[in-house]
Amino acid sequence: MTDRKQEIAANLAEVEQRIAAACAAVGRARDEVTLIVVTKTFPASDVRILSELGVRHVAENRDQDAAPKAAACADLPLTWHFVGQLQTNKVRSVVGYAQMVQSVDRARLVTALSKEAVRSGREVGCLIQVALDAGEAARGERGGVAPGGIAELAGLVAGAEGLRLDGLMTVAPLTGEYAGRQQAAFERLMDLSTDLRRAHPAANMVSAGMSTDLEQAVAAGATHVRVGSAVLGVRPALG
Ligand SMILES: *Cc1c(COP(=O)(O)O)cnc(C)c1O
Repeated sequence: MTDRKQEIAANLAEVEQRIAAACAAVGRARDEVTLIVVTKTFPASDVRILSELGVRHVAENRDQDAAPKAAACADLPLTWHFVGQLQTNKVRSVVGYAQMVQSVDRARLVTALSKEAVRSGREVGCLIQVALDAGEAARGERGGVAPGGIAELAGLVAGAEGLRLDGLMTVAPLTGEYAGRQQAAFERLMDLSTDLRRAHPAANMVSAGMSTDLEQAVAAGATHVRVGSAVLGVRPALG
C-alpha cells in the first residue's frame, strides 16, 4: 500500500468506528447510516483509493473541480452527490456525473434540473437543502430554503419529470438560534423530515453531519453523513 492509501485507510477505519459507536449508542443498526466521503479539493487519485477501500458514495461542491474528477473516475462503481450551491448554468455539467443533488433550494433550479434530466435521459435524486438559519421563507447564507418553503419545493420536485424526491439535507448553521447546537439543529431537521414524509413517504433520506458533528447527526436519526476532512485530511485552501 502507498503511504497515502495507508493514511486514508486508517482515517476511514476511524470514521467507520465513530459511526458504529454513534449508532450503537442510540440503538440504531450500523446499516441505517450511509457514509458519503466529501472529496472536494482532493485529487482523482484519492477518489480511486477510496473506491479501492470500499467507499461507494462521494460528494463534491464545485462543478469546476468535480467534473474533470468524475470523468477521470468514470470507471469506478461510485455514486456522485452534488452538495454545493448550484447555479443553473452548471446544471447540464452536474447532471452528467451526479446521480444525486443534495442542494435543491429554489424553484428555478428544479426546472433546470428537470429539463436536463429529461434531455439526457437520466433520473436525478434530489434532496431539499434546508437552511435552519434563515428567516421563514428566506434563503440561507450558504444556500438552502427556510423550513416554511420545504413543502412547496418538495411538491415541485415530486411533480417534475426526471427528478426523484429523496429527502432533506442540512448543514449545521453557524449563526441564528441553532449556532453551536448541532444536536438541536439535526433534531429539527428530523421533525421536518417527518412532516415531509406525510406527503411523500418515499422521501426518507436525511443527510446531516460532517467530520465534527457526525455523532450528533446519527443520534438525531440521519441516514447519510457527509464526511470530508476526517477521511482525507485538512483541505488545501480554496483558490
Ligand atoms: C465540505 C462539506 C462537507 C464535509 O465537511 P468536513 O468538515 O470536511 O467533513 C459536508 N457537507 C458539505 C455540504 C460540504 O460542503
